[in-house]
Amino acid sequence: MPDADWPDPLPGDWCWSHGRSEPMGADIYRVCGECFHVFQAEADLIRDHNAELAEMRKRHSDEASAEMPDATSGEEIWSCPHCIHDF
Ligand SMILES: [Zn+2]
Ligand SMILES: [Zn+2]
Repeated sequence: MPDADWPDPLPGDWCWSHGRSEPMGADIYRVCGECFHVFQAEADLIRDHNAELAEMRKRHSDEASAEMPDATSGEEIWSCPHCIHDF
């Protein structure tokens, strides 16, 4: 049963992480297969990923995640920083 609060019909560019429609142009860098967040450019993915990493370091300062270096390339990023789902 579709939830009445969900967009209907479901637009192809709906991001579940942010609850909004995000434009899916021809020149976008990557789209998350789980939450469909649109990364307009590689720099956006890197920025969001590194911001999430910084939050992780704050929360788990004693764990292995604290050792993870910031990503400098989209190729190093294997999961969506918004829903933590693997690409
Ligand atoms: Zn995602
Ligand atoms: Zn989004």
